[in-house]
Amino acid sequence: MSPVSPHPTPSGEPAPGPDIEALAAAFLASVPGYIWDGQSLPVPIEDIADSHLGLLVRDVEDLRLAPGAPRLDTDQALSGLLLPDRGEIWVNAEEGRLWPPRRRFTIAHEIGHWQLHRTGHGSVFCRSTAIEPDPTSAPAPLTPAEEQANAFAAALLMPPQLLQRQYEATGRDFARLCRTFGSSGAAMGRRLHTVIPRS
Ligand SMILES: [Zn+2]
Repeated sequence: MSPVSPHPTPSGEPAPGPDIEALAAAFLASVPGYIWDGQSLPVPIEDIADSHLGLLVRDVEDLRLAPGAPRLDTDQALSGLLLPDRGEIWVNAEEGRLWPPRRRFTIAHEIGHWQLHRTGHGSVFCRSTAIEPDPTSAPAPLTPAEEQANAFAAALLMPPQLLQRQYEATGRDFARLCRTFGSSGAAMGRRLHTVIPRS
């Protein structure tokens, strides 16, 4: 897949850019059936990272120790990073223990960078405020690349047809949808807005 360059975003206008839904659907379709049958839930995102892409997922206590990691203010943290040269995704171990759905989202987000933004050997460092930002806090402006990685992650973890089907099968049971897809409430809420047509 050709890399996607980030686009400048004029304020207030939707970012012109790649069709993330289509790219995510094509990526899922490329996953061999012995890794995922295209139906089972939750989507086995870690198996897809390691067995399909050859990316080792490493849970690391202090991501600031990664080679090339940026200096951060004390109130900032990293949730995940992608080390293309090593073929590794690192995820914040503490976040993963506390919030397993967030760990899944972070892995999917880093797969998004791997698929969409990998142009060379540069590592990608993702702040906690950039991955699946907390809807109750003031949103920090995200770069187009971070927005795209989040959209790609949501589309991988909550494929539209499967979500639509489960939405109907569960009688719109929100908590059950979150459990079925291994998703946080915030990510599920956002995804339902995108996928389910308003009546
Ligand atoms: Zn990122």
